[in-house]
Formats: sequence, C-alpha cells, structure tokens
Amino acid sequence: MTTTERVILPTGEDLESAKERGARAHRLDRAHVFHSWSAQEQINPMTILAAEGSYIWDGDGNRLLDFSSQLVNTNIGHQHPVVVEAIRKQAATLCTIAPQHANDARSEAARLIAERTPGDLNKVFFTNGGADANEHAVRMARLHTGRYKVLTRYRSYHGGTDTAINMTGDPRRWPNDYGNSGVVHFHGPFLYRSQFHAENSPQETERALASLDQLIRLEGPDSIAALVLESVPGTAGIMVPPPGYIAGVREICDRYGIVFIADEVMAGFGRTGKWFAIEHFDGVVPDLITFAKGVNSGYVPLGGVAISGEIAATFAQRAYPGGLTYSGHPLATAAAVATINAMTDEKIIENAARIGNEVLGPGLRALADKHPSVGEVRGLGVFWAIELVADRATREPLAPYGGSSPAMNEVIAALKSNGLLPFANFNRIHAVPPCTVSDDEVREGLAILDTALDVADAHVKP
Ligand code: PLP
Repeated sequence: MTTTERVILPTGEDLESAKERGARAHRLDRAHVFHSWSAQEQINPMTILAAEGSYIWDGDGNRLLDFSSQLVNTNIGHQHPVVVEAIRKQAATLCTIAPQHANDARSEAARLIAERTPGDLNKVFFTNGGADANEHAVRMARLHTGRYKVLTRYRSYHGGTDTAINMTGDPRRWPNDYGNSGVVHFHGPFLYRSQFHAENSPQETERALASLDQLIRLEGPDSIAALVLESVPGTAGIMVPPPGYIAGVREICDRYGIVFIADEVMAGFGRTGKWFAIEHFDGVVPDLITFAKGVNSGYVPLGGVAISGEIAATFAQRAYPGGLTYSGHPLATAAAVATINAMTDEKIIENAARIGNEVLGPGLRALADKHPSVGEVRGLGVFWAIELVADRATREPLAPYGGSSPAMNEVIAALKSNGLLPFANFNRIHAVPPCTVSDDEVREGLAILDTALDVADAHVKP
C-alpha cells in the first residue's frame, strides 16, 4: 500500500474517521460501560470498527480473522446481506408486538425450527437468549414431573442467570452458588482427563454412565426433574461425547422418568456440521432442546426452547407460568427466518461439516503432531479445541483450571498480533470460525496458529 492510498472499511468509511469514532467509543466505554464477568479496572476492551464475513476490524483498523465467531454465535458470518436485509425489512413492517399476538416472523421461525429439530419437538417457546432458555426448560421440567432437583455435568456452561449459573459446571458458578438451587453436578465423559481412569472410549462411556446411574440412585430418582447436558460441551472444552454415551443418558432418563434437556445454545444451528449436535448420536431425541446464538447468528438477541409433544401437553389445559415481553420479538425472529433459510439455500451446514472433515480437523491434527505444547485437539465441524500442556506426559495444563497464565497470555497475544481473534479458555484455544468460513480462510488461520504454537512450545518442560 502506498502512503497516499486511503483505507476504506466495509462500512464504506475512511479509516481515519472510523478510528476517531472508535477512540470515542473506547473512551465512553471506559467511563460508563460495566462489563460482564470482569474486574472493571483490569480490562481494556478491543474496539471493533467493522465486521464482514469471517473478519473484524479493530480500533486501529487492523483486520483480524474471527476464529471466535465472537462468543461462538456468528455461525453465518458477520453482516450476512440476506439477514441484514431481512432485519431492515421487518423493521419497516413491524418492529415489535406483544407476545400474546401472532405475527408472521415468529410463526415462520417456529415452523422452520420445528422442521429441523429431531423427533416430535414441534412447539417453540422463544426467549431473549440461552440462559433464559435454560431457566424456562428447567421450569417446564419441574412442572411436568412435579420434582425439583436438576442434574448437570461439571465442565459445562448454561448461562449467567440464577438457575442457569447454578447449573453451570465451571468456576463462574462458584461466587453465585449458595448451595440451595437444587442442582447436583456429575462427571461427564472426557477421556483425555478421565475422571474414571478409563484408557479408551468404551470404558469412558461405560464408567461415566455407571457413575451417573449410581449418583441418581443415591440422590433419589423420584426427586430429580431434569438432566441438562450440552450435547457437545462448548466453552468447557468441546469434549465430543464418546460413542454410546448420549444414548445411555437417554436410557437412564427414561428409566427414572427424568426430563432430558439438551443445551444446544452453542453447539446448535450448524456449529458441528449438523443442525443440532445431538444428531451425531444414534438418533437420540431429547425432551427439550434449548437454543440461542446460531439461530440467527446473534444479529438480534434470541433464544428458545423446542418442546416435545408430551411436555407441551402438560400445558395444554394448564397455564404455563412464565413469559417475556420480547418472546418471539419480530426483529429477532425475522433474523432467524432469514438465517435458517440462508443456511439451507447456501448449504452452510454442509460447508461446516466439510471444513471440519477436510480442512480444519486435519490441519489441527497436523499442528498437534508438530507442536509438543499441544496435548490434544478435538472437535467436529467448525467447533474445535486445542488443549495446551506444559508436559505431554503428565498432561499438566498450560494454565490452571479456572485461571490464566503468562504462557497462555503470550500465545493469545501472538495470535492477535498475527491477525487472528481467538476464543480462549484456561489452557485452551478454540478454533471456532463461522460455518461459512472458506478453505483459504481456514488455511490462513492454521498458519497463524502454527506460529503462535511456537510460542507455546517454548513453555514446554524439557
Ligand atoms: N448454554 C451454553 C451451552 C452456552 O454456551 C451459553 C453461552 O455461551 C449459554 C447457555 C447462555 O447463553 P446466553 O449468554 O445467550 O444467555
């Protein structure tokens, strides 16, 4: 680029004026915005000036490959023109309407979702996001069964609201847990760090199921309303369940009359290369599926619960005691309709599956072979975790559970300075680009990861 060449962002703006806008946004952020999960004076948020497809532009105008999909929600990429146009059109037609009224955006979104959910999950209750979807799913299960307790796994995330954060099996629960939520946690399968001293997948499946069964018997089966499980746990580490596990969970839930709730907030809507991650596992149909994020790529906040015929029947003649002003908000559901149609028409889910099988998965495995700091890579579709270790033999993580480390901070900084926006959690980097990502973009991401893993390798114990 010559010095006289002007950089124009996808917004059509000149970089210099966009940077001024960004600097003001950052100043006002620091003065007035209170951020999630953070010590307010210890953070320095990255300003984003623009985004398009698989890329974002930071406050200095640097282009970064978005390998985070933000919080793993922009499944259709940034600023997909079909979805942007649908929101624009809906805004011109009907911006908002109370939830007791029918409107075409919500009705059509519900139809499209019901068409894609497995089994007879044919009714949809819309929420504003994932946490409240889980809150409502648990409320439905409690009323349906007349029981109170809820089982969830360690190494999980279910949301930031009261019941959802208590369901969560990660350190974000600890300061929010008063021990009175009725949630009991169990160990799910995770062969790389097996809680069951298993040496292979069949052992892990068998022992994880036996342990769950025993926990239920010790807790009192008749006291348990629901079991909530991310079909593929996301933030906690993308541990794809071993063969037979999900079918075993379904069987245990049936045996004890427990409602099986699959949390597909992160794993759903194409992320694993299928509409819902549960479709990877033996045709298992949960009783409720919770979703959010990818349903409309987060362009407008939206979540929901897909409900089986049996649970819907519980509320056929008896009022469901719950609701939201914005349940099925027209702008959000119009965005969902456009997203689902675009995903179908443009074969975006097929792309996610192919990328995982042919480009991202093999590429990450090659990096694992090359870099001693990589303990394991695992995933499906465009949903992958790279587990970094200081010692391959002991599997000592490069940052402790629940924490960070100078080594991980160096790796993250190397990724960003080389042009990749990562999703990082404890000792892991997740490679979670949009489902629309191209082969070349994945290769670009793999090359940046390769360089950053050299930084991680320097921290491996001799
Ligand atoms: N469930 C899972 C699996 C998630 O990953 C998340 C968010 O990351 C949630 C629930 C909560 O969703 P939200 O942040 O929209 O409330």
